[in-house]
Amino acid sequence: MISENLKTVRENIIKACERAGRNPADVTLLAVSKKKSESDILEAYNMGQRVFAENYVQELTEKMDSLPRDIKWHMIGHLQRNKVKYVAGRVEMIHSVDSLRLAEEINSFSLKKGIVTEILAEVNVAAEENKFGFTPDEVEEFALKASDLPAIRLTGLMTSAPFVTDPEENREIFIKIRNLCVDINKKSIDNVIMKKLSMGMTGDYVVAVEEGATHVRVGTAIFGTRS
Ligand SMILES: *Cc1c(COP(=O)(O)O)cnc(C)c1O
Repeated sequence: MISENLKTVRENIIKACERAGRNPADVTLLAVSKKKSESDILEAYNMGQRVFAENYVQELTEKMDSLPRDIKWHMIGHLQRNKVKYVAGRVEMIHSVDSLRLAEEINSFSLKKGIVTEILAEVNVAAEENKFGFTPDEVEEFALKASDLPAIRLTGLMTSAPFVTDPEENREIFIKIRNLCVDINKKSIDNVIMKKLSMGMTGDYVVAVEEGATHVRVGTAIFGTRS
């Protein structure tokens, strides 16, 4: 019932935009298809879904190679430096940039290819031990350094809020991330304009949209649970 699920998620996003006085066109729904089959992806594709996100490089490249060319792919999983070459230039955006060394590798690969790669900085707002990402304190320094790397463009922040039963518990986190973007923009760093907020998953995307998410990453609510 992927098509029904997708409809419901889209409607929920529109309603959240109405409550928040936002334009639904400013919110991109990323269908998170990790561990899901190509036929599942095609079912969503046939409902008009064109933007998908994956976590694992090999799975991502295999799906890219066999699925329709007009799909836009986003990388949202932890990325090792030695795998940058498989991803940069092939995805619309890398959401999960969690270190300067990774950003430098994306920059040098992109320079060689003559491209500019759009990235987000992953922020571990709740400072959870098992999660990747910069602490909120580290983001500004990272933005300053990213500003000097000519073949990457840092355009926003990404976060995965903790798993909670009541999504209201994550509202504070989404507000914090949004404010972090505002603070960094006030510094007027060259080449860095924070306008994208990748936040909100199956459990909390409605609250994330209410708090300004421009990209929500929804898997389970569209494709069902993963084995
Ligand atoms: C798996 C994953 C998602 C989607 O999670 P759901 O709870 O299934 O919606 C979103 N973001 C990241 C980084 C993920 O790894």
